[in-house]
Amino acid sequence: MIEYNLSKRWEDGIPHHPKSIELYKRIENLDFELGGDVFCFKSGGDGDNGEHLMYLMDIYFEEKDTKLPIIYDNGQPCVHTGCLSHKTHPCEWCGRIEGKGIIYEEEE
Ligand SMILES: [Zn+2]
Repeated sequence: MIEYNLSKRWEDGIPHHPKSIELYKRIENLDFELGGDVFCFKSGGDGDNGEHLMYLMDIYFEEKDTKLPIIYDNGQPCVHTGCLSHKTHPCEWCGRIEGKGIIYEEEE
């Protein structure tokens, strides 16, 4: 299961996806060398923008790694009426808040 809570990813020490690290290092270098260090990327510490970016890319690459079929895509309501109206507590049916996150078919 993919962890969509960025703070939890940090607290649990979930390692970055190798492709996130590879892409981040190259982008950081390109921005520094060619882009005038506009993003001023920093990594290694809590709240560093490079760490934040890698956590976002981790989710992207983990989603790509998942071979399971998508049942409900990000932002798509489940069968529960008012699924997207759940703003503070999770939907009783799919467990998402405001339909954020992707629900994959369960592995047998
Ligand atoms: Zn739902």
